Amino acid sequence: MKNNSEIVDRLRDRIPTFKCTPGCHDCCGPVTTSSEEMSRLPVKTIAEHEAALDQYNCVHLGPNGCEVYEERPLICRVFGTTPNMPCPNGCRPEDMIDSKVEQQVHYYIKNTRQVLV
Ligand code: SF4
Ligand code: SF4
Repeated sequence: MKNNSEIVDRLRDRIPTFKCTPGCHDCCGPVTTSSEEMSRLPVKTIAEHEAALDQYNCVHLGPNGCEVYEERPLICRVFGTTPNMPCPNGCRPEDMIDSKVEQQVHYYIKNTRQVLV
C-alpha cells in the first residue's frame, strides 16, 4: 500500500501541465491541501496568513505569481486541466486530465484532512 507521499507524487506525475497567460493568477485564492503537501511548503507566519486572507489571496502568491510553483497543491495543478474547472482565459493542456486521475485526485482530497494553505 502506498503512503501519502507516494500518492501525491504519483498524482502529480499524472496531471498534465500547460502554459498560463503570462502574469495571470486569476484562479489563485485561499486553497486547502493535505498535511503531506503542506509539509512541502514553506511555513508562513500568522501575520502573513492573515494579510493574505484579508485580500482573499493565497499566502504563496507573490508579485510574480505562485512562489511555490514546484510544490503547489494538487487542486492548483488540476485547475484548467478539466472541463469541470476550466481556465477563464481558455488556457489548457493539449490533452486534458484523464478522468480516472481526476477522480483519484478528488478521492485523495476527500480522504485526507485538509488544511488551509
Ligand atoms: S489557469 Fe488560467 S486563470 Fe489560472 S493562472 Fe493560468 S491562465 Fe490564469
Ligand atoms: S499555491 Fe500557488 S498556484 Fe496555488 S493558489 Fe497559491 S499561489 Fe496559486
